[in-house]
Amino acid sequence: MLVPSAWHLLFLGSGSAFTEGGDNWQSNLVLRAPSGARLLIDCGGDARFSLAEQGVEAGAIDAVYVSHLHSDHIGGLEWLAFSTRFALPHRRPRLFVSDDMAGALWEHALKAGLGCLGSGPARLETYFDVVPIPAGGGFVWEGAMFETVPVLHVGGETCRSPAYGLSFDLNGRQVLLTTDTRFTPEILMHRYRRADIILHDCETAPMGSGVHARYADLLGLPAEIRGKMWLYHYQPGTLPDARADGFRGFVAKGRQFV
Ligand SMILES: [Zn+2]
Ligand SMILES: [Zn+2]
Repeated sequence: MLVPSAWHLLFLGSGSAFTEGGDNWQSNLVLRAPSGARLLIDCGGDARFSLAEQGVEAGAIDAVYVSHLHSDHIGGLEWLAFSTRFALPHRRPRLFVSDDMAGALWEHALKAGLGCLGSGPARLETYFDVVPIPAGGGFVWEGAMFETVPVLHVGGETCRSPAYGLSFDLNGRQVLLTTDTRFTPEILMHRYRRADIILHDCETAPMGSGVHARYADLLGLPAEIRGKMWLYHYQPGTLPDARADGFRGFVAKGRQFV
């Protein structure tokens, strides 16, 4: 349902990287501003299908935010780049990306497919209006402020791959979108307390990967935190009864927050 003059946050999918389609897609979102402009929050390998399911064409994407460099968050960028490059009228979506991952995004993920056009060499800026975000800083889109939230996802002593969630206002309520993160209340608790709506990474597979927050760990959070927490980025299969456990619930594909 579209509410005039409101912001709409839509989950194209709410599954993990292992999602194989059918009943869910990878965890990518679309934020629609009151003007109708759309910000795609992560663009995974199956984004072309999940967007199509919601009736959103590539040309309707005004901007993209990249949280980190796993394929379920960036694997669709080549498709988006070519789709908008060769669409008529030609347009370059804005690309909001933290400046500590922009180089790797191009050099290690996108350049192989996008680095050479029929007309000659191409760069990230050939396809996108790149807006680097200072590490841990924020950006403005459609007059609204988006604060990036540094999270601990992959890496350790010897390697670290940056990852950032988002904090932003949605029609007067503060949203914390963790994107992919380990269970780190020591880092995120003050943000949990401040947020009105928490959208949290939740791993439901019996064998944990060690790089996502596990359901069993999230269960240990105080009741007032669980009571405003929605869970997403979960594995296919049977889910626990999150509402009975004091959470708001698991986010289903296509769910919209207004
Ligand atoms: Zn992911
Ligand atoms: Zn990830």
